[in-house]
Amino acid sequence: MMSSSRRTFVQSAAALGLLGATGMRAFAAGPIKPGNKAALIVVDVQNCFVSGGTLPVKGGEDVVPVINKLATAFQNIVVTQDWHTPGHASFASTYQGKKPFETTKLSYGTQVLWPDHCVQGTDDAALHKDLKLPTAQIIIRKGFHKEMDSYSAFDEADHKTATGLAGYLKARGIKTVFVTGLATDFCVAWTAMDARKAGFDTYVIEDATRAIDLNGSLAAAWKQMAAKGVKRIQSADIA
Ligand SMILES: [Zn+2]
Repeated sequence: MMSSSRRTFVQSAAALGLLGATGMRAFAAGPIKPGNKAALIVVDVQNCFVSGGTLPVKGGEDVVPVINKLATAFQNIVVTQDWHTPGHASFASTYQGKKPFETTKLSYGTQVLWPDHCVQGTDDAALHKDLKLPTAQIIIRKGFHKEMDSYSAFDEADHKTATGLAGYLKARGIKTVFVTGLATDFCVAWTAMDARKAGFDTYVIEDATRAIDLNGSLAAAWKQMAAKGVKRIQSADIA
């Protein structure tokens, strides 16, 4: 018979949607051990998104030591890199009279317009120099089609053009992905939701991400991710 406090926890955890496909396991049976069928995805930890970059995410550089520590627990690591052409469709400067953080309509829908950032081959687009990811095998570059953005590491912004990451992971026998990096409410969230769409068991490790939070985008992203079955954990949950 469950104690009443335990029952209350289970009921409230269920009400909050905390009990996913793995049920109580992640909470009651201790830390999660990634194993050889899991991959860590490190999204866009680049100079452009940290202090001193062209599109700095508040506290962006703070994810580096957290991700480095997590990396020691993973046999498979995928890195992504935002990699834009000059004059890219996601840059406000490409359009007359548009300012950063406004939006425009493109063929695939509404596009947030950003300051020029992560231009191919610049130091701004380089991965953060302190990242230590010994088992990282592949870098997915995205956003290099001039007319289309790509927040997600799986599908570009038209939700049709594949980067090939899903096929790569499946060919390697990966079943579960753990998403980290920048920024929580854009490239991390879109990557996590597309990972679910591609059939992966998907976690976002919250303290290994930082957000832009543009007009409530962070709360909206967590809600959308939860609705798609993305699980939200902390780095301390990983063994
Ligand atoms: Zn970008």
